[in-house]
Amino acid sequence: MRVAEAIRDAAQHLAATSDTARLDAELLMAHALGCSRSDVLLRRMQDQAPHAFTALVDRRAAHEPVAYILGTQEFFGLDFAVSPAVLIPRGDSESVVQTALDAAPFARRVLDLGTGSGALLLAVLAHLPQAEGTGIDASSAALDVARSNADALSANAQFHLRDWTQAGWADGLGQFDLILANPPYVEDDARLAPDVRDHEPASALFAGPEGLDDYRIIIPQLPELLTETGVAVLEIGATQASAVSEIARDHGFTASAHKDLGGRERALELRLTLG
Ligand code: GLN
Repeated sequence: MRVAEAIRDAAQHLAATSDTARLDAELLMAHALGCSRSDVLLRRMQDQAPHAFTALVDRRAAHEPVAYILGTQEFFGLDFAVSPAVLIPRGDSESVVQTALDAAPFARRVLDLGTGSGALLLAVLAHLPQAEGTGIDASSAALDVARSNADALSANAQFHLRDWTQAGWADGLGQFDLILANPPYVEDDARLAPDVRDHEPASALFAGPEGLDDYRIIIPQLPELLTETGVAVLEIGATQASAVSEIARDHGFTASAHKDLGGRERALELRLTLG
């Protein structure tokens, strides 16, 4: 079977699984052929579809995210390695990066809490040549992914295994001009798409009955971790701006929410209230 025909069949098959079935099929074909997606379009009439393609399509049909199958995901214009140990970087989270770059363009020390693949931290560092980054995560498998991404981008970043459910988790980190976090914020009983629920790490998603458990741990620690004029930018769930702002106010912060491209409040900017 020719590449074009195989893509067409796969797109039909994947329509039951994916809103982006045609794109998924093209990306999986590119992976099977070992070429770029644009080269697939050039080769579609000439080449035979490789056998490996069928197995990739079967994985996608079982709701495995394309990013895990390819082992890579584009985020903020950069390519990140991903594995099932880390959340797949999402377009929504680009608003956290943009908010951070706008809020703290001169940051020298940047901390990322729950760094996962390192996407937030490394995207910010790519635009702040003067800055050095620290990423922490409770998963050593995630830190392996973050370190390999930092190496690939020649980033000035270091990573530490820390678990903020353990006392003393922030000891010795020092102070930062900019703190980023995309903590787990999904309500425990939320109904997630099977792609997310069955494949992405639960430890990066679920945060108690209201999805607020991790903010309640992280936010009280922020005044000690931030310099006086420092900024924290936290990713939040679409309905959480007022609840998380209230937690932040109780700990001396002024909060402002910024929207993602879908128009949902996604990034919460926190600064210590003066006076
Ligand atoms: N935005 C993610 C989702 O909807 C959740 C990310 C998180 O909990 N930090 O799947």
